[in-house]
Amino acid sequence: MESLEFVYQARASRVVFGEGSLNHLEREVLALNAERALVICSPEQKDTGAHIAQRLGQRCAGLFDRAVMHVPIELAREALAVARRLNADCAVVVGGGSAIGLGKAIALESELPILAIPTTYSGSEMTPIFGITEASLKRTGTDIKVLPKTVIYDPTLTTTLPVGLSVTSGINAIAHAAEGLYARDSNPVTSMMAEEGISALAEALPAIVADPSDVAARSKALYGSWLCGIVLGNVGMALHHKLCHTVGGSFNLPHAPTHTIILPHALAYNRNASPEAMKRIARALKAADAATGMHEFAKEVGAPLSLKDIGMRQDDLDRAADIAASNPYWNPQPVDREKIRRLLQDAFDGAQPRTWAL
Ligand code: NAD
Repeated sequence: MESLEFVYQARASRVVFGEGSLNHLEREVLALNAERALVICSPEQKDTGAHIAQRLGQRCAGLFDRAVMHVPIELAREALAVARRLNADCAVVVGGGSAIGLGKAIALESELPILAIPTTYSGSEMTPIFGITEASLKRTGTDIKVLPKTVIYDPTLTTTLPVGLSVTSGINAIAHAAEGLYARDSNPVTSMMAEEGISALAEALPAIVADPSDVAARSKALYGSWLCGIVLGNVGMALHHKLCHTVGGSFNLPHAPTHTIILPHALAYNRNASPEAMKRIARALKAADAATGMHEFAKEVGAPLSLKDIGMRQDDLDRAADIAASNPYWNPQPVDREKIRRLLQDAFDGAQPRTWAL
């Protein structure tokens, strides 16, 4: 038995969870001492944004329905100007990581409190991490100002999330928890949340594939993504997230599918260096091995398995390995450029995660 030593930083946010919890929206806006909310969403979710605005009635200062991926700085400035012009005193953001990202960019400059209503499983609403793209470069940072003050998780809003996106978004959440389990600064509390989060998503995603309108399954997936988001916001990530960020960003690959494809291979790479974490991931997946269990799970729920199927080109793999290995970062298994190149080839081909002699 080892004696315990850790730092656990609780982040103050209020969570209102459950089917129909959107009914508490006005109460929650008032609890923020706010009465003029700017509603933010992406163009694809314009109707949901309009519905939220209508529910808020006179507490709604306006609707900004142009959130896009990667938070371009020009758009963030425009949304901030709108918030100021309308005298908004809070932002109600409904949508996935992209819409929440725009809300965070506004909060970074204005300290406007955010009330988030997530409709994917990205987990962004639980983290103080922001990303803003300027001159084609995505800058990320951490600032407690951007952490939403209140989060309303209403699973009924997620039933429209297409099955393909539900599956990749859910595995994106599993990736936060998996890396949280072997993080250098992991602690017993986040590890408990991580295992429970993976387990909830492993149970919920096949049920969503079987019936996307199953609100109980949607509720379980949202619960899992909440836990995985807390883990992401509390401990440092490693190889998997770095690979997805650098490779996905450099070659313009879709966010959640990139996570889905790389995860089994990143777990295989770290398998020998983090046996305890792997045991917990495998247990949550009800599998014998974390990496192969993750690969089999992705297959079972019909997720994409190879980078070539989501727009990566074989000719770019060398450059991807160079980029991924160029900025050193902590990982349980030291990062080696040649091995990363092989890992990327496996992910490109959709191969079984390999057994590394590391
Ligand atoms: P997304 O927000 O881009 O959404 C994907 C698509 O799904 C969009 O077209 C959106 O309109 C649509 N959509 C969302 N919810 C829907 C619903 N319920 N029904 C129908 N359509 C719906 O995708 P995402 O994966 O949630 O977020 C990805 C972005 O979030 C990336 O830019 C990523 O970097 C960022 N992110 C940030 C953090 C963080 O902590 N800062 C964490 C995770 C992801």
